[in-house]
Amino acid sequence: MRILVVEDEPDLRRQLEKAMIEAGYAVDTAADGEEGQFLGETEPYDAVVLDLGLPKIDGVTVLKGWRDSGKVFPVLILTARGRWSEKVEGFDAGADDYLTKPFHVEELLARMRALLRRAAGHATSSLDCGDLRVDTRAARATVGGEPIRLTSHEYKVLAYLMHHRGRVVARTELIEHIYDQDFDRDSNTIEVFIGRLRRKIGNDRIQTERGLGYRLIDPVEMQAT
Ligand code: CA
Repeated sequence: MRILVVEDEPDLRRQLEKAMIEAGYAVDTAADGEEGQFLGETEPYDAVVLDLGLPKIDGVTVLKGWRDSGKVFPVLILTARGRWSEKVEGFDAGADDYLTKPFHVEELLARMRALLRRAAGHATSSLDCGDLRVDTRAARATVGGEPIRLTSHEYKVLAYLMHHRGRVVARTELIEHIYDQDFDRDSNTIEVFIGRLRRKIGNDRIQTERGLGYRLIDPVEMQAT
């Protein structure tokens, strides 16, 4: 899952970026409203953290712009203490959740997980597909309760497929959601990750739809139907 962080305070921006990378997300950052607005318009994010007090273009205007142009990704806004009217404006502009500064990064991560789950239509922090389970809180996967060792990129691919299980995910879509914008993207590496994942979680769980992409399924359930 790929996240955009728009925050002008350098220390907080770096802290959020680091925590989110450690949590298994691909992360892009922007230091002002103009850059943030541009990235949100042009890149396919799964969720956004948006500070409201930003240089160049304020956060509420950025958010309104995204919503006006049809962007539906969940947005969590960061507001300054005591500025309750900001919150109201933020929600009216299309925010999905908020945190008031200062906050604990753990709480932000928990709220992001909830937003990503809700956007994908899931209710709990662990995603199941048959006996394959991805715990998005610990960024870990198990098959039949046995832990699977995954590299960070393998985890990103699996987590994205799990959030969209049962649906065909195009290779280009996977690439856009597992790498940040600075990453040197090579579509062949996706096939490598898929191959390694199949060896680790079982060959029949990830189907290749020729010319379309990949689909994560529960092979037992598929046999039953
Ligand atoms: Ca600010």
